Amino acid sequence: MSNSQVLFEEALKVIPGGVNSPVRAFRAVGGQPFFVKRAKGARIISVDDRELIDYVCTWGPSILGHAPKPVIDAVQSAARDGVSFGTPNPFEVDLAKKICDWVPSLDKVRMCNSGTEATMSCVRLARGYTKRSKIIKFAGCYHGHVDALLVKAGSGALTLGHPDSAGITKGAAEDTIILPFNKIDLLEEAFTKWGEEIAAVILEPIPANAGLILPKDGFHQKLREWTDKYGSVLIFDEVMTGFRLAKGGAQELLGINPDLSAFGKVIGGGLPVGAFGGKAKIMDCLAPDGPVYQAGTLSGNPLAMAAGLAQLETLESENGYEKLELIGQKLEAGIRNLINQSPLNLALNRIGSMFCLFFTNCAIDNLNDVKAANLDQFKSFFHFMLDAGIYLPPSQFETCFLALAHGDDEIEQTLKALEVSLSKVK
Ligand code: PLP
Repeated sequence: MSNSQVLFEEALKVIPGGVNSPVRAFRAVGGQPFFVKRAKGARIISVDDRELIDYVCTWGPSILGHAPKPVIDAVQSAARDGVSFGTPNPFEVDLAKKICDWVPSLDKVRMCNSGTEATMSCVRLARGYTKRSKIIKFAGCYHGHVDALLVKAGSGALTLGHPDSAGITKGAAEDTIILPFNKIDLLEEAFTKWGEEIAAVILEPIPANAGLILPKDGFHQKLREWTDKYGSVLIFDEVMTGFRLAKGGAQELLGINPDLSAFGKVIGGGLPVGAFGGKAKIMDCLAPDGPVYQAGTLSGNPLAMAAGLAQLETLESENGYEKLELIGQKLEAGIRNLINQSPLNLALNRIGSMFCLFFTNCAIDNLNDVKAANLDQFKSFFHFMLDAGIYLPPSQFETCFLALAHGDDEIEQTLKALEVSLSKVK
């Protein structure tokens, strides 16, 4: 038995499903997960000493690559002064200033510990601010495991075939209205019917938890128009896209100013961090100034703040976003070339450092399009790639990530593996 197999057997005895987050269990592709003992740059090294080029990148946070020196140095230096204080610390102020500076729709930001906390707090805040109950979310958008939002969510929930989790009361989900992404007419219908009752619309502006879905022209403009007209809070969940696609996230690329935004992943440099922010008049409804309660023992933790700051500063000083776009373009050109030569039905969606390959000849505009793709072909493709030393997300309903550490060698090796793997898929 391999070291990973031994560890997984041990894990199964003491951790549900052997994993601390469901998608890691490989259920969508079959087989068993491998354990990682070390990661550096674009590569991860398993406990069986297999070196893999990594396109999961910690599910998004590792935008510089694994174990980047500036982040390690910042964490080590902060840790020497104490790992947690439970009082305000200077790193929190620096990171909050940087976030508000990079994302113009934010007057104020509050730090928390995960993307789930960030979206959950946004919804509570929007309801407290508007004194309304209903929220609109879109099928296939995942906002963490928040009860009211775990309805037709993407990612792990879809992968397991349980779009609605057990344990969520009817009451928690009954004020959640689900719409398909990219369908402007249905959005209009929903606002016409419930407009005065809608506290918030929450969405991933570029959904990346049902594969990668690109918004149609005009979709976000209509969203902004309808939320403005009815006084509903527009919440962009930028946990994936924030600080990944641009300094100002997807909202900068789309030219839309949401009322509230949720962040996570990249902002913590690999440590557990979330954040949410927006217009002062809404953020000031939070305790201790306002009536909406939200708190966290470890929120603004000095190590996490130092890691996030170091990651953002490095991205800025290295022209990270321009470089990531060039890496993305290079990889995309190579993949498109292989798609053109392949007899398989294939579609590629990419934006900046996020991309996803689908086994279909249809455009991927919403969750139903992804579900209609050939998931069996994806499964065998995933394993052929893994055998060839390339680690992709173990589900068609996830997005691949690039890091600054993906250099020419990695791209070349990936394209070779892709060519061979695609030729083996039946
Ligand atoms: N929102 C989006 C768009 C996400 O992709 C995720 C996680 O993948 C979350 C929220 C939840 O974040 P976390 O896993 O840090 O709780």
